Amino acid sequence: VGDINAETVQSKSVSQHYPLCMSHLMKGLNQEHHLKYLGRQQLSLFLKGIGLSVDEALKFWSFNFTKGPMNLEQFNKEYRYNFRHNYGLEGGRINYKPWDCHQILSKASPSRDEYHGCPYRDLTSEKLTMELNKMGITDQYDVNTIVDNSSRGDYTNACTKVFELTHKKEIEIATQKTKFDLSLITHPNLYFDRSRKLAK
Ligand code: SF4
Repeated sequence: VGDINAETVQSKSVSQHYPLCMSHLMKGLNQEHHLKYLGRQQLSLFLKGIGLSVDEALKFWSFNFTKGPMNLEQFNKEYRYNFRHNYGLEGGRINYKPWDCHQILSKASPSRDEYHGCPYRDLTSEKLTMELNKMGITDQYDVNTIVDNSSRGDYTNACTKVFELTHKKEIEIATQKTKFDLSLITHPNLYFDRSRKLAK
């Protein structure tokens, strides 16, 4: 995808298609000017999956990490390898794939200053409700359905429901024209691709 680069991945036009886990990580990165290991892996492989090249990825991460106390030399020494490694350019040269929801959910839950994981599992009902409201989901019935799904452990159901509610109009238009894929969302990159497709 030609328009995906270090700058646009933080722009509204691209980030509006991120699932909650990825906007949560972006928010954490903005606040901390840093992300711990699992957060770096989850977000960097997702961004790779949406088409961010390794050069643009290094620009993006170094720019964000050096907004705080860290300087570029430190970044290059401590983190450059990690991001290049994710693109298969270091070590075993494995071309790592973006994590699906199952993989994301199989990692340890985030501690206080971590942002990885799935917000439908990791946020309290109050915080999740606040996030839903921010996304424009305010109808009590809808909020309750999503919070109930989440507390039952149906995280991907909750996420898919959020997708449907936040893309209601676009889905209506798309399904009039052709058959649109409305299967369960089990991968953050599927969420992104489906959302972008609807916007076209
Ligand atoms: Fe991300 Fe998957 Fe959780 Fe949605 S269900 S927020 S895509 S991990």
